[in-house]
Amino acid sequence: MDDLSFLLNQLGEDRSSYFGAVSPPIIASANFRYTTVAEMAKAVSDEENIPLYTRGNNPTTDILNKKLAALEGTEAAMAVASGSAAVSMAVMSVVKAGDHVVCIQNPYSWTMRLFNEYLLRFGVTVTYVSGENAASYLAATQENTTLYYLETPNSLTFELQDVAEIAKAAKTKGIKTVIDNSYASPLGMQPAKMGIDLVVHAATKYLAGHSDCVAGAIMGSKAAISKIFYGELMTLGAVISPFNSWLLLRSLRTLEIRIERVSQTTQKVVDFLANHPGIAKIHYPHHPSHPQFKMAKRDIKIPMGLFSIELATEDPEKITRFCESLRHFLMAVSWGGYESLIWPALAYYDIRKGSLPVNLIRVSIGLESADDLIADLDQGLKHIS
Ligand SMILES: *Cc1c(COP(=O)(O)O)cnc(C)c1O
Repeated sequence: MDDLSFLLNQLGEDRSSYFGAVSPPIIASANFRYTTVAEMAKAVSDEENIPLYTRGNNPTTDILNKKLAALEGTEAAMAVASGSAAVSMAVMSVVKAGDHVVCIQNPYSWTMRLFNEYLLRFGVTVTYVSGENAASYLAATQENTTLYYLETPNSLTFELQDVAEIAKAAKTKGIKTVIDNSYASPLGMQPAKMGIDLVVHAATKYLAGHSDCVAGAIMGSKAAISKIFYGELMTLGAVISPFNSWLLLRSLRTLEIRIERVSQTTQKVVDFLANHPGIAKIHYPHHPSHPQFKMAKRDIKIPMGLFSIELATEDPEKITRFCESLRHFLMAVSWGGYESLIWPALAYYDIRKGSLPVNLIRVSIGLESADDLIADLDQGLKHIS
């Protein structure tokens, strides 16, 4: 395989076809013209690979797709409009009316909506499992189960699944597997190489990394991606814009150094927090206190920058004061960008009906210095004592 840096910076870029421009152009065109009927007929018959109309193939997006496939080690990839579009299109390409899905118990909130509300309208049912091993998936499997859905770890409470074991169990039963790999990113884990059929990403998070674009990606075999192209992509039309594809191409060039930096900073911040009396609990797969620490070390090659803490108080006023006193951490949803964030469960208390501890705060580490971030948390934690 080519070097990662070659892949991120060169793969798929054919500069001779655009004036030698070092940065590829944003081909902001909805349609593409042909001068012969024969050539147009060829494009019509192979819309996935030849530019005809940008809901299908677009040359800027095509460069991105080549890189995304190489990153995950799959035959093919498809950038789409959002992470949620990636999740729902991958799932809908597998299930049909009457099917049953076994899913990890706390997936991304809109993934849960997809199963609980949206797909229920089409007669698809779901069972949620703890998912730490294949046995939990197998025990929930029914005659009509066609999909195992994974997300390791989930992005609030960080429980992991044994990906290889679950993929293997699925194969013996002819059940397809889809995993949301947004947390680990392809640098941390390549689930297709562990036997997973379809890998999806909220590219909005680490892959884009600049909090300036919403995007998603689906990776898998040529046949599986082609099925989604002619099925879900062309009919539902959740296409990525050429501009967002270009932003992602730009972002991927720094993916490796961004993740390395975030990883180093996070370990320093986590060590500081784990020893602070103001913190009751830390949920971080790569911290020895995590119940699945060994599995995290085995499956996720680089410690990533997202974790949760529980403050040593349940007093909403003190939690509020902590959140509002931070100067380097922005209070916002999402994660994986250049900027450090906090996400207080307190802000979601009514919506989630208390399903999360009130003192839980998710932290996303960005590109600031570890010293600044630690000093900020240190002063913030004084507000809860
Ligand atoms: C954000 C997120 C999504 C959804 O991605 P969007 O680009 O916001 O649609 C899916 N899965 C996980 C784990 C996420 O964090």
